[in-house]
Amino acid sequence: MTDKPEKLIDKKGLRLDGRKPDELRPIKIEVGVISNADGSAYIEQGKNKVLAGVYGPREVHPKHLALPDRMVLKCRYHMAPFSVQERKSPAPSRREIELSKVIRESLEPAIFVEYYPRTMVDIFVEVLQADGGTRCASITAAALALADAGIPMRDIVVACAAGKAGDTIVLDLMDEEDKYGTADVPVALMPNLNAVTLLQMDGILSYDEFESAVNLAIEGCKKIYTMQKEAIRRKYASAKEEGEE
Ligand code: ADP
Repeated sequence: MTDKPEKLIDKKGLRLDGRKPDELRPIKIEVGVISNADGSAYIEQGKNKVLAGVYGPREVHPKHLALPDRMVLKCRYHMAPFSVQERKSPAPSRREIELSKVIRESLEPAIFVEYYPRTMVDIFVEVLQADGGTRCASITAAALALADAGIPMRDIVVACAAGKAGDTIVLDLMDEEDKYGTADVPVALMPNLNAVTLLQMDGILSYDEFESAVNLAIEGCKKIYTMQKEAIRRKYASAKEEGEE
């Protein structure tokens, strides 16, 4: 584990990795990266590397879990043993079980689940490298994997966290800010509908600070949303070119 830094914000107001308070980490998104899944996406956000794969809609197993009026949505968030500095046990931890639920619940409102009764959709998220904010990066990637699988959705869900490092409200916390900062507020959003599908808070903030953090996280979500749309366009532009060849 990294040692506690003396200060999270320097005299110039910059963060440990040189970012300004309202700056996102560098983000790279790719859609359609696994040919065996029905849909997939990969995201790098700072040092985070997260892969999402989707299967479905397909038959429900075991059959008695099928619902007559909607699809069953399942999600498994998993951190690879090599994703953090100390080897992580590959078995699902309590945290991973909780995050699987959190990710599923933040995506579900966007999906027209009633279009596919008696079916299921599986979302698999693999964190290959973790550096704070993996639940948000997972939501952003999983939403794209769902879109890539052709699942009808109201909007593409996007997620980003804001929080407090030192005395400053900052966007997109990395691991050290997450660990040694005062608060972390992950937000997931359907930007076109202006609807929040996830809002959590870990730490302590005054009401005004909380409001600034949520607004900053929403601004971050909107920037990432633009990158999501570009990534989808890139995938379909290249598929079209291949089809024309
Ligand atoms: P999130 O990744 O959504 O911020 P947490 O706040 O629970 O979720 O975790 C913060 C960060 O702590 C993770 O992104 C990861 O970098 C680190 N972390 C999580 N689990 C472990 C672990 N088992 N060992 C080492 N670091 C971990």
